[in-house]
Amino acid sequence: MAFDVQAVRAEFPILLRHVHGKPLVYLDSAASAQKPRAVIEAMTRAMEHSYANVHRGLHTLANETTDAYEGARSKIAGFIGADPHEIVFTKGGTEAVNLVASGIGASLQPGDEIVLSEMEHHANIVPWHFLRERKGVVLKWVPVTDDGRLDLEAYQDLLGPKTRLVALSHMSNVLGTINDAKALARMAHEAGALVLFDGCQAIVHKPVDVKDIDADFYVFSGHKLYGPTGIGILYGKAERLAALPPYQGGGEMIATVTRDEITYADPPHRFEAGTPPILEAIGLGAAVDWLAAQDREAIAAHEHRLYARVRDRLAGANWLKVIGEAPGKGAILSFTVDGAHAHDVAQILDRYGVAVRAGTHCAEPLMRRFGVSSSARASFALYNTEDEADAFVDALTKTQAFFA
Ligand code: PMP
Repeated sequence: MAFDVQAVRAEFPILLRHVHGKPLVYLDSAASAQKPRAVIEAMTRAMEHSYANVHRGLHTLANETTDAYEGARSKIAGFIGADPHEIVFTKGGTEAVNLVASGIGASLQPGDEIVLSEMEHHANIVPWHFLRERKGVVLKWVPVTDDGRLDLEAYQDLLGPKTRLVALSHMSNVLGTINDAKALARMAHEAGALVLFDGCQAIVHKPVDVKDIDADFYVFSGHKLYGPTGIGILYGKAERLAALPPYQGGGEMIATVTRDEITYADPPHRFEAGTPPILEAIGLGAAVDWLAAQDREAIAAHEHRLYARVRDRLAGANWLKVIGEAPGKGAILSFTVDGAHAHDVAQILDRYGVAVRAGTHCAEPLMRRFGVSSSARASFALYNTEDEADAFVDALTKTQAFFA
């Protein structure tokens, strides 16, 4: 199956936009990706044709909507090699980590250890800090090497009899580094610890098989995966989910409620209190269907080509510092421009129609590790083209000249 970027682009209506009179060059997909028509139409169709609350009614629309919602769960399960009852719908990647932290926290003791890394997004840091504050849990940090890899020897040394959980990103949202999740999981398990992967970035760029990785938990968000906002996924091995207490209380997550006691529904519904993000689940189901029908190897090769092109063209730019150049990394370029603040770089690039992110990228420990207060980040997606890569390099070169 050949990869035809123009055919793919035609499925993303927003890419026709102009910004400040220039064609939009959207290089902020690591923050949130644009949506193909398949997703937009699936959500619109549901709202126009078949919508009601789920699990409740015995009427036709309620049943149709329940089928669509549970159908989305099955699609997402299939997409990552899981069983549907191991898939919990959350409101985002962040909520999925919080759900696990809150559930596991209930059984942790002071002095128990959680291993994180310096390359984590705050979504995979702050919930564990809560357990440090509230339960006296000790956080241990895997260092990052100068080229942006996890230091595996240090990781091995950090694992010990007190390690209860390892929580690591599968792919860094700043460096683009792709970690060897399977090896990391094996090492965690050998130490008797559970392992959670933050897959918010990785799942967009490579096929993920949670059973092959042997993840206990794997989380990601919908909106980076060409799906809608307001939805995320927590995958948990059936026995791990079964051992977790509920996260929020409300309708749909109970088996029985009396004045004196409650019993809980089985996973995944135990963790889906209240009306869930129904349309968003349907939209995410459409997104994974859409992505699964693409040639994912060809997409990865395409994204790498774009990154390599930008790197080649900027090879002589002595005013540019790139953070993170790990072998096999994904197509995320984090950089600083000498003499210019990253926010100013992003604002000037915007005048050329080029959308990049700037700031700490919710990864302050990583920024500190590399001695910068912020960086600019260009992240490439399947719909970006070589012309756009060139437009970015040209705009960045002009931006630098402005500050020189
Ligand atoms: N982890 C990583 C690596 C991310 O890039 C993000 C999104 N920036 C998150 C977690 C949080 O996801 P969300 O904002 O969708 O909850």
